[in-house]
Amino acid sequence: MPPNATTATQSLSDMCPPGTQTSAKSTSDPAATTGVLFECDSETIDGGLTKDITTLKKAEKRKLKLVWRNIIAFAYLHAAALYGAWLMLTSAMWTTVAFAFLMYTVSGLGITAGAHRLWAHRSYKAKWPLRVILVIFNTVAFQDAAYHWARDHRVHHKYSETDADPHNATRGFFFSHVGWLLCKKHPDVKAKGAGIDLSDLREDPILMFQKKHYMILMPLLCFIIPTMIPVYFWGETWANSFFVATMFRYTFILNVTWCVNSAAHMFGSKPYDSTINPSENIGVAAFAFGEGWHNYHHVFPWDYKTAELGNYKLNLTTAFIDFFSKIGWAYDLKTVSPEIIERRVKRTGDGSHATWGWGDKDQPREEIEHATIINRKSD
Ligand SMILES: [Zn+2]
Ligand SMILES: [Zn+2]
Repeated sequence: MPPNATTATQSLSDMCPPGTQTSAKSTSDPAATTGVLFECDSETIDGGLTKDITTLKKAEKRKLKLVWRNIIAFAYLHAAALYGAWLMLTSAMWTTVAFAFLMYTVSGLGITAGAHRLWAHRSYKAKWPLRVILVIFNTVAFQDAAYHWARDHRVHHKYSETDADPHNATRGFFFSHVGWLLCKKHPDVKAKGAGIDLSDLREDPILMFQKKHYMILMPLLCFIIPTMIPVYFWGETWANSFFVATMFRYTFILNVTWCVNSAAHMFGSKPYDSTINPSENIGVAAFAFGEGWHNYHHVFPWDYKTAELGNYKLNLTTAFIDFFSKIGWAYDLKTVSPEIIERRVKRTGDGSHATWGWGDKDQPREEIEHATIINRKSD
């Protein structure tokens, strides 16, 4: 935790400034919500809703209306990515592979630190230079303008695993992974989405610039420039550059992001709330830069770490935000106090939460004795 951090419980009014609350309490039906989005949505002291959310879950049987344009586009994309994987192993220059990896990291952070933790959840604030960086990174990722991404994601949290959830995981792995992009949205997604307040996003001129010019910026940053760089700077072939640095890289990060909606809504433990499907998935956390700690994240979506873990091993995004916090470009980082976490784990967890942290009565003596303590001061 940064040295100047305060616990989020002390800054409720700051978390929910007037006019920026999710409007579930005003314009949409509060009884339909199945998850909290911001701290001010919670109805219990430990960040939860008072009702039994499991009784609200439903997935209406319906005939899906397929969107063939998207089906063909995604089919081509995956075929091109497979060819890119082959070229990566057989003929691409190592610099091109390293560049693809860099672009994967950059676009990943544009989603995790940008669209997700900053814009969808407002879990921290960012000065304009950092917002410019994040908007560029986010455009490389091509998952639609961050404004639309954040809107869909707010609906996902507030109406989690109902028909209003754009990628409702109760419809199965394929639907929540990619199927939701291949068919028309359920009417509830649009209806409930219309009730979500996005005024804070509309007030961000950088975000609005990206939205307005998306169809120019996105092809340049996601496809054209990443294909040209390996050709012009180190003499890569056009084919290797296009299929490895662009198609493989783009499809890979897409699937990683989708795994948060599919795998992390199905596989893993639920130490914080056993009544919801989002789970702690270490594999997703590793590839998605810390976004796989999904049981924690759905319980406390406004925590900038999206996890309880204090280390950066599987949470590159937290390290990224902490770095910018150190130089003052990221500020007001919200995180949940250990007391609130403990309360919630005891009330709704599945029992898989091992220890509360340092000095817990269940923490093994051995672990305490052999722990490495950096910058130790004797007290
Ligand atoms: Zn989720
Ligand atoms: Zn989220």
